[in-house]
Amino acid sequence: MEIENLRFLTKEQALELESQFGTPIFVYSQQEIEKRADTALAFPQAYGITVRYAMKANPNSTILKILKKKGIKIDASSYYEVKRALGAGFKPEDILLTSQELPSEDQFKEVILGGTDFNACSLNQLEFFGKLFPSRKVSLRFNPGLGSGGTTKTNVGGNTSSFGIWFEHTNEVKKILKKYDLKVKRVHTHIGSGSDPEVWKAVARYTLEYAEIFPEAEIVNLGGGYKVGRMLDEKSTDFQKIGEPVRQLFIEFFEKHGRKLHFEIEPGTSLVANTGAILSTIMDKVSTGEKGNTFLKLNTGMDTNTRPSLYGSRHPLIVVHKSKESKNTVKEFVVVGHCCESGDLFTQEFGGEISKRKLEDCEIGDLMVMEGTGAYCSGMSTKNYNSFPESAEVLIANDGKFHLIRKRQELSQIFQNELDVESIL
Ligand SMILES: *Cc1c(COP(=O)(O)O)cnc(C)c1O
Repeated sequence: MEIENLRFLTKEQALELESQFGTPIFVYSQQEIEKRADTALAFPQAYGITVRYAMKANPNSTILKILKKKGIKIDASSYYEVKRALGAGFKPEDILLTSQELPSEDQFKEVILGGTDFNACSLNQLEFFGKLFPSRKVSLRFNPGLGSGGTTKTNVGGNTSSFGIWFEHTNEVKKILKKYDLKVKRVHTHIGSGSDPEVWKAVARYTLEYAEIFPEAEIVNLGGGYKVGRMLDEKSTDFQKIGEPVRQLFIEFFEKHGRKLHFEIEPGTSLVANTGAILSTIMDKVSTGEKGNTFLKLNTGMDTNTRPSLYGSRHPLIVVHKSKESKNTVKEFVVVGHCCESGDLFTQEFGGEISKRKLEDCEIGDLMVMEGTGAYCSGMSTKNYNSFPESAEVLIANDGKFHLIRKRQELSQIFQNELDVESIL
């Protein structure tokens, strides 16, 4: 395996960031986020496209605002995300709510009557929506019966997945629509990470079938899940390649049915994964003997990036030397996080086995940059495990200046909601 390189950071920037903000911190690049937004907006399409950012990937309001300025809309996965998007300046009609859990009746009325679109993910959700909001327009998320997730844990289609209305239940859907006089505005699928043009074409074909079954639908949404290579040996999805056959299908649909369907995609990972890095410090170096390993212990861990422990994901690791002269020798290390948990392991095989990584030799106090951490890290973590405070987040703006966009959590914030019940003790 090749040694990984810094992506958007330079060594000088890493050192300067450490001296200004300390470690561990997340660092994001405005320029990189904007570049990915442009790539997504250029996705091949026949009759118009809306790109919705799946904001669960990274909900920091500055990132939301950067994407908003690019004309990108929102895929929200909960009532709370809808509220965060509104707080960042999105209009209600820019937001589509696709949630595993419905909000309370009051919360639901607040967002739907405010103008947010709703995507029903189950027959029960559709029924609940119909009862509260008869005669409205609604979206339908289907599980087309196939998935393409990179791992069994990221697969969100097929009969092992609970996401979406099962494809054989369209008659039940029709009954509910009729009962509440609902109109279908959009049909939607989202089946998980993949980069295979054949799979995307199949998904588009299935989803267009729902547009046929529900003839008033104006929009076809294919969700997200565009696989992104974080490591040098991983491939990224080429939007032009997977998009062109999909565009053709929309044209064929028009020729057959006379309906120009608007197209939507919902990238999360591909918009932000490679636009962020974690800057950490090597805190310790320990050996388990000649037949064992040399471990590097970082001042970050699964409480900041949970993906390796959750999925066995790999992230590029790059040593940045504090001293001027680089040693230029490469050694094999096992890199671990700071939590008291054997699963807090940044170098592992698929499935969780410990593995060694070739890195430049380094000393305690040197910096370690973990790349590919812009998506599903800051927003998805075992936050505060071992009572480590949530890391700060810094943006490198287009002018090269550093901006703190989230402060490091204070100790008191970790337990601010705990209540004193001394009277019973
Ligand atoms: C998570 C999610 C996405 C984005 O998935 P990525 O793999 O990050 O691109 C898009 N749509 C829905 C409905 C989602 O739940």
